[in-house]
Amino acid sequence: MAPLLRYVSLISLVGLSTASPAPQLSGGRGGASPAAGPAGPAGAACTEIKAALPREVFYGQDKAYQDEQLDYWNAGNSDLKPACITRPTRKESVATIVKILNKYPTVKFAVKSGGHDANDGHSSIGPEGVLIALSQIRGTTYDARTRTALVKPGGNWGPDVVSPLDKLGRAVVGGRLGIVGIGGYLTQGGMSYLSGQYGLAADSVLEFETVLANGTIATITRENNPDLMQAMRGGGSQYGIVTQFKLKTYPMGKIWGGIRLYGANQKKELYEALHSYMDAQERNQNSAIIFTATPGSSYNIFYFYNGQGSMPPNGTFGGLEGIKPQLDVTGITEYSTFLGSIPPHTNFHLSQIRTSFWSMTFPYIKNGPELFSAVEDAYLATAKQVQGPNPKVSGTLALQSFPASLGKHSAAAGGNAMGYGPTDGPRWVLEMAHLWEGRENDQIVVDVGKALMKTLTASRDQSIRDARGQAETYLPFFMNDAADADNVFASYKDYAKFKVLQKQVDPTGLWSRSGGWKLN
Ligand SMILES: Cc1cc2nc3c(=O)[nH]c(=O)nc-3n(C[C@H](O)[C@H](O)[C@H](O)COP(=O)(O)OP(=O)(O)OC[C@H]3O[C@@H](n4cnc5c(N)ncnc54)[C@H](O)[C@@H]3O)c2cc1C
Repeated sequence: MAPLLRYVSLISLVGLSTASPAPQLSGGRGGASPAAGPAGPAGAACTEIKAALPREVFYGQDKAYQDEQLDYWNAGNSDLKPACITRPTRKESVATIVKILNKYPTVKFAVKSGGHDANDGHSSIGPEGVLIALSQIRGTTYDARTRTALVKPGGNWGPDVVSPLDKLGRAVVGGRLGIVGIGGYLTQGGMSYLSGQYGLAADSVLEFETVLANGTIATITRENNPDLMQAMRGGGSQYGIVTQFKLKTYPMGKIWGGIRLYGANQKKELYEALHSYMDAQERNQNSAIIFTATPGSSYNIFYFYNGQGSMPPNGTFGGLEGIKPQLDVTGITEYSTFLGSIPPHTNFHLSQIRTSFWSMTFPYIKNGPELFSAVEDAYLATAKQVQGPNPKVSGTLALQSFPASLGKHSAAAGGNAMGYGPTDGPRWVLEMAHLWEGRENDQIVVDVGKALMKTLTASRDQSIRDARGQAETYLPFFMNDAADADNVFASYKDYAKFKVLQKQVDPTGLWSRSGGWKLN
């Protein structure tokens, strides 16, 4: 893929405007890296794990510790420096670590696969805890007989999953960017370019090989535990540590796709066509877009069409394709090339900038394209009001279609935690991504996020009442894009059922000591 497309891909997906801060190494909120044998209960747990797994535990002075701890998408997570970092190389090691952690009931811990969750403390932990990093448990094995893939949680979608499968003409429902992590993405649900065709990524999970709270290893399937299977498909990090996913695979040839850039003066026609596309996607399930707005400035659209190397027919994208872009980098290419437009650890990888995601779900309102403009305008006004004339934080909005077909595919596969079903109709998810530098500006982002959520929730709910004469009760958060402050589980249909189930599989509350959204 052309270097230009790589760059454009990056600025669009992470929302980096030209005014964005330059990368900088962050300071140490969690204090200096602990040397070997830190004190306290976390230190004692580390010592015991080290005795059991001498080659898989690292302290602050070790290169493996430093590499792992810097490898986060949001530099805020790199500030947190755990008492020790465990890097298990196989599921049995994970089980050993879990058994030892059970002996230290006050010790917190975090589980990290790719480290792309932007929320501080989800896949990171300070000196009071132990980090279980799954980076060494990675790779994909394809079984041609069953057309399934065994996918490990560590690594990144591009090199570890998509590329090897693409060579075989197969694909799984996975990340839309090759650099994204796997374990967190799949346990949170996962939105893919293939979701219109096959549902959320988690809907294609056939088996979760999981280390349970008591340290035993179980394989959860729809047949042996349908409720737990549903709960784990997008239920986050509170049922166990998944050490392998068995995924359905699908045929994959060349795809058409890429990015187009548009100007601020094209706002009205873009939003009208986006509105048409959200309706049309149901009939064109092999298409997808990511529509990104840099409020008041520009628009980028990622296009994707899975047509075995053919061009998308006219009208596939609801008229978006007919709007003249200022820059057009689309074409027919391999799926792995398309997703691999940002290779890991290149200069483009912005892992040292602080980032956050906030998210909201909207129903698709017929005859209501002006809602998109209203959201962008409200964003601009609120961000300006909170930040004043010299903004320290730059932001982008991604308006992501959740077609009705997605709910139908999810239900057909047995259902997932989010509960988006066959009769729910189309929805769309707004992701607000912020970038900034300096720990001292963290609070501004929290303030902007909270103010935005308040304003946009009120504006969304009013628009729904105006259009339908009544409120909408089911607007589930999309966990992959959510902020820690969002009450994700309370927005799920089967919240009460999952609460009971979680207590059953985790009677001592082990997973409440680890990061991520919790039911109990
Ligand atoms: C640049 C970028 C692009 C993105 N694109 C997409 C996209 O296209 N679609 C989409 O849906 N999302 C996308 N996301 C969001 C992404 O899905 C989440 O950030 C996800 O958490 C990343 O997975 P990870 O393995 O890196 O998670 P981590 O940060 O490692 O972990 C996230 C959470 O999951 C838990 N966890 C991780 N591994 C396991 C495991 N094996 N077992 C149990 N719990 C575990 C952790 O404890 C933590 O709470 C994107 C994020 C970024 C930064």
